[in-house]
Amino acid sequence: MNKAPRLLLIALLIALITAYFAFGLGRFLSLDYFKSQQAAIETWRAAQPMTAALIFFVAYVAVTGLSLPGAAVMTLVGGAVFGLLWGLLLVSFASSVGATLAFLASRFLLRDWVQQHFGERLRAINSGVDREGGFYLFTLRLVPVFPFFVINLLMGLTPLKTRTFYWVSQLGMLAGTLVYVNAGTQLAKIQSLSGILSPGLLGSFVLLGIFPLIAKKTVEALAAKKVYAAWQKPAHFQRNLIVIGGGSAGLVTAYIAAAVKAKVTLIEKHKLGGDCLNTGCVPSKALIRSARLLSHMQRSPEFGIREATASFDFAEVMERVQRVIKRVEPHDSIERYTSLGVEVIEGSARLVSPWEVDVVRHSGENERLTARSIVIATGARPFVPPIPGIDDVGYLTSDNVWELRELPKRLVVLGGGPIGSELTQAFARFGARVTQVEMLPRLLMREDPEVSGCVMQRFRAEGIDVRVEHTAKKFLVEKGEKILIAEHQGREVRIPFDAVLVAVGRAANLKGYGLEELGISANRTIETNEFLQTKYPNIYAAGDVAGPFQFTHTAAHQAWYAAVNGLFDPFKKFRVDYSVIPWATFIEPEVARVGLNELEANERKIAFEVTRYDIDDLDRAIADSEAHGFVKVLTVPGKDKILGVTIVGEHAGDLIAEYVLAMRHGIGLNRILGTIHIYPTMAEANKYVAGNWKKAHAPQKLLAWVSRFHRWRL
Ligand SMILES: Cc1cc2nc3c(=O)[nH]c(=O)nc-3n(C[C@H](O)[C@H](O)[C@H](O)COP(=O)(O)OP(=O)(O)OC[C@H]3O[C@@H](n4cnc5c(N)ncnc54)[C@H](O)[C@@H]3O)c2cc1C
Repeated sequence: MNKAPRLLLIALLIALITAYFAFGLGRFLSLDYFKSQQAAIETWRAAQPMTAALIFFVAYVAVTGLSLPGAAVMTLVGGAVFGLLWGLLLVSFASSVGATLAFLASRFLLRDWVQQHFGERLRAINSGVDREGGFYLFTLRLVPVFPFFVINLLMGLTPLKTRTFYWVSQLGMLAGTLVYVNAGTQLAKIQSLSGILSPGLLGSFVLLGIFPLIAKKTVEALAAKKVYAAWQKPAHFQRNLIVIGGGSAGLVTAYIAAAVKAKVTLIEKHKLGGDCLNTGCVPSKALIRSARLLSHMQRSPEFGIREATASFDFAEVMERVQRVIKRVEPHDSIERYTSLGVEVIEGSARLVSPWEVDVVRHSGENERLTARSIVIATGARPFVPPIPGIDDVGYLTSDNVWELRELPKRLVVLGGGPIGSELTQAFARFGARVTQVEMLPRLLMREDPEVSGCVMQRFRAEGIDVRVEHTAKKFLVEKGEKILIAEHQGREVRIPFDAVLVAVGRAANLKGYGLEELGISANRTIETNEFLQTKYPNIYAAGDVAGPFQFTHTAAHQAWYAAVNGLFDPFKKFRVDYSVIPWATFIEPEVARVGLNELEANERKIAFEVTRYDIDDLDRAIADSEAHGFVKVLTVPGKDKILGVTIVGEHAGDLIAEYVLAMRHGIGLNRILGTIHIYPTMAEANKYVAGNWKKAHAPQKLLAWVSRFHRWRL
C-alpha cells in the first residue's frame, strides 16, 4: 500500500498537536480563562451570532478530532455562550463529527497494523464488535467515566462501521452533553469540572449505559419465548435428551449425556456408527492400507529387494474392508451403548414439536417421545451434481463404492478434495486406470499451492491422470462406451471410462425429518449459534449436519458442547471452541494441518513468519526410503507463538498431534525444542523445525558478546 498519504497525515497531526502545546493554546481552554473573557465573548456573540457559532463548531471539531484536552470545558462554554438549546445542538454535532474524525484517523493509521499483528488474538473482539459493536459503543458513550478520546481511538481499530460509530456516538453522548451544556448555562456557579457529575448522576448514567444490554437480553429471551408460542409444551418430559442420528456426533452426545447420568435416547435409522464406520473413515482407511502394501511391493527395489510380486483378488480386498468394519463395529454397538446407560432405538425419527419426536421403529411400531432438549446429528450424504446424463451412466459415491467386488478398468473420479484424492490413489494402486477430474486449478485447494504441487507430482508419478481445470459438462454413452465430456480452457475434452466415482462434496441431511415443519433455518447446514442452538434454544445440531467442518473428530468435539449445553442450559452453557482444529488427508504423501496455512493467513491479512524443515534430511525418513515432504510452521513475527502447521510426509497425521497440543495449550517452538524426541523417529522433524526457528531468532548481539567472552578465556 502507498505509505505517502499516511506519512502526510501523521506529519500534519504531529504539527497540529505540537503547535497546540508549543503555543500553550491549552490556556484558552481553561475554565478560569473563559470566565475572565466571558463578558467580551458574549458581546461578540450577540453582534455576530452565526460567525461565533461557526468558529465555536470548527474549534470544537478540531479539539476533539485531534484528541486534545479541553472538550469538557468547551461543552460548558457552549452552554454559557449559546444557551441550552443552541449549545446542545452545536456541541452534539461538533463532538460527534470530531469523534468520527479521530476514529477515522486511528483507523487509517493504525487499524491494518493492529489487525495484522494481533488479528488472531482480536478475533473474538472483532466478531463481538461485528455482532453487537453498536451496543458496546452506546454503553461506553452513556457512561461518561470512559474517556471520550480513548473510545474514539480504540473503536477506530475495530471493524465497527463508520456510520454506526457516528450515530451511536451522537445518541449515546446526548445525555452527558445535556448535563454539561446545562451546567454551562450556570457557569458563574461552577468552580471546577469535577463537581458537575454527582455520584448519583453518574450512577444513573451507569444504569442507562447497561440498559441497552439488559434490553437486548430481554429481547432475546422474548424472541426465544415467541418461537415456542405456537407449540404446546408437554407438562412433563420423559427424557432429558433425545439424540437423532447415531453417527460420530450422535454417539458421542449420547455417551456424554449418559456419563453425566442423564436419561438419554439415541435414535438411528440405518446403522450405528454412521458414515465414519460404515462408509467413510474406516472402510477408506482399510482400503488405503491394502493399496499401500501393493505400492510398497512395487517399490521393492528401493528397499533392496529385487522383485516382489503380489497376486490379489479385488473382491477379497473389499471383503477385508468389511471385516475391518465388523472389527470396529462393537465400539459403536447397541450393546455397548446400552451398557453405558443409553437407550438406543433402531428407527426413523421425526421432529413434531420442539420437545417431541415421533419414531417409527424398524419393527413397525410408532411412538412419540418427549425430552427437554433434542440434538440433531443426522449427518450428510454425498452431493451428486445435476450433470446431464449422470443417471444414464450410473455412478458410484462413497456410499456404495464399498459394494464393488470387481475393479473398474478405467475409473473417473470427479473431485480433487480429500475424499476424491484418497480414493483416486487407492484405486490406481490396485491397477485401475484412474483419471481424476477437478474443475479448480489444483487438488486439495484448501492447502497451500506447494502442498497440492507435491501431491499432484506424486499422483502423476504413480500413473494417475490428473486433470485440473476440467469442468464436467455431461455424460454420454456412445456405442456402449461411457464418456465424460469436460471443458478445459474453452475446449471440449472426452474422457472414456468404465465407472465414475462422484466425490465433489457432501450435502447435509436437511429434509424429511421435521426441520421444515418446525421452521428450523438451514442453508447448506442447519443454522446454529455459537452454542450449537438452533432457532429453538432447546434444539441443538452437531456434526456434518451443523458444519462448518466435516470430520469425525470435529463431530465428536461439537457433541460435547451439544450434550453439555442441552443438559445444563440455562444454568450454564459453553461456546464451541474452534480455535485449534486439525485434519489430515490420508494419501501418500500424507498431508496434515492445524491452524493457519500461508494461503489463509494472507487472505485474512495476518502477519506471519515461516519456518521449514525438509524431511528429506531426516535420518528415519532416509532409513525408511520415505525421505520426502516438509514441516512448515507459521509463527507470529518475532514471537514464539504458533499460528499454524502444515506437514507433508509419512505419518503427517500423527506428527501434527504435537502441534495440536502445543497450540491448544499455548506452547511455543522453544518448548518443543527443549523436549526429548526419540531417535530415530519421524517425530524428530518437529524438533528440527523448532531448531530452525531458534537459529533464525538467535540473539545476535548477545552471541557477539559471548564470542568475545570465549576469546578472552583462551
Ligand atoms: C470416504 C470418506 C472418508 C472419510 N474419512 C474421514 C477421516 O479419515 N477422518 C475424519 O475425521 N472424517 C472422515 N470422513 C468424514 C466423517 O465420516 C464424517 O465427518 C462423520 O462421520 C460425521 O459424523 P456425523 O455424526 O455428523 O454424521 P453421520 O456419521 O453421517 O451420522 C448421521 C446418522 O444419522 C442417521 N440419521 C439421519 N437421519 C435420521 C433420522 N431421521 N432418524 C434417525 N437417524 C437418522 C444416519 O443414518 C446416520 O447414521 C470421511 C467421510 C467419507 C465419506
